[in-house]
Amino acid sequence: NAVRLAAIKDAQSFEGPAPFFDVAEKTGEIFGANVFSLAVMQKRLPKAVFKSVAATIQNGEKLDPAVADLVAAAMKDWAMERGVTHYAHVFYPLTGLTAEKHDSFLEPVGDGTAIWEFSGKTLIQGEPDASSFPNGGIRATFEARGYTGWDVQSPAYILENANGNTLCIPTIFVSMTGEALDHKTPLLRSQAAMAAQAQRVLALFGHQDIDNVVSYCGPEQEYFLIDSSFVNARPDLLNAGRTLFGAKPPKGQEFDDHYFGAIPERVLAFMHDTERALFKLGIPAKTRHNEVAPGQFEIAPVFERANLASDHQQLLMSTFRSIAKQHGMECLFHEKPFAGVNGSGKHVNFSFGNGNQGNFLNPGDNPHDNAQFLVFCAAIIRAVHLHGGLLRLTVASAGNDHRLGANEAPPAIISIFLGDQLADVFDQIAKGGEATSSKQRGILSVGVDTLPDLAKDAGDRNRTSPFAFTGNRFEFRAAGSNQTVAAPMVIINTIMAEALDFAATEIEAAVADGSDFNDAVAALLKKIIEQHGAVIFNGNGYSEEWHAEAEQRGLKNLRTTVDALPEWLTPESKELFSTYGVFSEAELESRYEVGVEQYVMTVGVEANLTSEVARTIVLPTALRYQTELAQNVAALKAAGIEADLTTLQSVSAPLADLTAALAALDTAIAGAHAHSGIAEAAYLRDVVLTAMADVRTAADALEAVVADDLWALPTYQEMLYIR
Ligand code: ADP
Ligand code: MG
Repeated sequence: NAVRLAAIKDAQSFEGPAPFFDVAEKTGEIFGANVFSLAVMQKRLPKAVFKSVAATIQNGEKLDPAVADLVAAAMKDWAMERGVTHYAHVFYPLTGLTAEKHDSFLEPVGDGTAIWEFSGKTLIQGEPDASSFPNGGIRATFEARGYTGWDVQSPAYILENANGNTLCIPTIFVSMTGEALDHKTPLLRSQAAMAAQAQRVLALFGHQDIDNVVSYCGPEQEYFLIDSSFVNARPDLLNAGRTLFGAKPPKGQEFDDHYFGAIPERVLAFMHDTERALFKLGIPAKTRHNEVAPGQFEIAPVFERANLASDHQQLLMSTFRSIAKQHGMECLFHEKPFAGVNGSGKHVNFSFGNGNQGNFLNPGDNPHDNAQFLVFCAAIIRAVHLHGGLLRLTVASAGNDHRLGANEAPPAIISIFLGDQLADVFDQIAKGGEATSSKQRGILSVGVDTLPDLAKDAGDRNRTSPFAFTGNRFEFRAAGSNQTVAAPMVIINTIMAEALDFAATEIEAAVADGSDFNDAVAALLKKIIEQHGAVIFNGNGYSEEWHAEAEQRGLKNLRTTVDALPEWLTPESKELFSTYGVFSEAELESRYEVGVEQYVMTVGVEANLTSEVARTIVLPTALRYQTELAQNVAALKAAGIEADLTTLQSVSAPLADLTAALAALDTAIAGAHAHSGIAEAAYLRDVVLTAMADVRTAADALEAVVADDLWALPTYQEMLYIR
């Protein structure tokens, strides 16, 4: 088939951009070159102004409006020296994408000329026409106004482009009545809520002069790189971001020969260019390696304050997409682009801390003796046990449904893995009320004298747990590769606020009752582990037994997005989010509506694509081949030779299946209109996804028998291995 063969040829002959590698360029010098950072501000702003902005950034104080004009003027000068002509308020609507509206600095002055202007007001606030962003009914469509407001803690930066540079200002996005239409607003609210409760706990531990408490986040991003020619030849990949057809390749990932293997040359060139771009933007890209599946890779930046990490994560994804194109590739962030091949996740590593007390999740050498650490850990245990449903909800999407619960990603049941050392400490607390020892980290003996001793961690890793303690942080592993990290961080901060509030209140009450402080803490830890220990699970999360046991323990198993979405609206959620000022009831309804809408649209598009590709590409190809075989049979008969019909039948049988499945799919698609809201989502999941799977089964069976020179869709083998 001409299309597919041309794609293969193009992929094989692709020549990337000339490599740019300058040994003289020092990473340290380009790092942050395009960021209007604190350091730049210090150089360019009057001392008093700088101090005011720095206080806002470091302590989360309110920005003084009088200061904004001066900051804006300095920002404009800095940007224009770097070839910037436009500025953009960048925001993060509920589609999960990044949105930006560009405006020129240009202001006509009335005499036929113009000046370049950028005022404090335009820096702080913008007003994009917001009517076509999803809002879940918060804003009636006739009311198109939405406002953006600068998140001062996330610095402005310059996005370079061959067609002109843009000054980007990270903002929140709210409705006229102040309701959040984005992911950043609740993130900032949840951070404040968590900080207030954490400060109460710290104060109980005698920390008086407390720096602003923040949550930190370090996301590990998995992605696929596929040659663009293949993507262009596959309407499913092009439009849905995942393959809706494709037989499993003879060689899959079972050899484990890709994982951590040598990075292919073409991919290395891509990584080099992306890292350079990320460094300029002040994004601390750190780790890169091959992932499990062929064609799959990972990048992890160093952790940062959660709101900054989240903005950086969005910027990282768009940078990857555009630089991949320059290298003739598509960067796929879909959670499951290829069936039967590992999917992609985004591990959300997080911790809490501040300037003077450091990381609260650092156990030290003797966690059993580190009461403050244990209180924070216990709070996490309580939070995850009480609100596992919300954690599950926050990673629910049509794409991630193909991953969660399958045998490669954490299960849809949310449990906690503590590791040997910590599990043992909490065991002691549960049994005796107080922990008296900690398993120590050991020294690894490798049996080779010339090697230095290798330190061995006190606990092993568990890849099957959705929520794991990893030494000085927790790692929430259920997030999908395509999702924003802001959403999980909102939930993590909020449920931590509740748990820390509980902890502080318990200790305060006990002390007021005359209890000794240490006894009060010990009693709290024991109480939490008794009430919430059921969420701790150190075994194999993939096993069937765990599903049964989790049910006995009363843990939720929300298998699909459709099961998880109603968690937005439970009385417990409403209570929790309003208590901590993170979501109003209207905002919860809106997130729910948008979640349903996104699911319905995603599956709807995939269903139509399945039907279209099957009818216009797979079916004609199979019919042509069937005709060829039939002609062969006829020719043999005419020549008086007895024809063997096996091959013809091996095509005719799946072809008949395909025709039937296609008719069933079209009926199923038509039936969706009878439903709406969550009922439509459930219908799509139960009826339409099943019908799509039947079409695929027949089509994949045909791929295995139809002559290779006729087959039109680039195969898994070609897409995953040619580069
Ligand atoms: P892994 O061994 O789990 O694959 P990686 O090195 O790939 O680890 O990524 C670990 C991520 O966790 C990095 O983004 C790292 O910056 C982040 N991280 C490390 N310490 C903390 C912390 N205290 N809080 C939040 N994130 C952290
Ligand atoms: Mg990891």
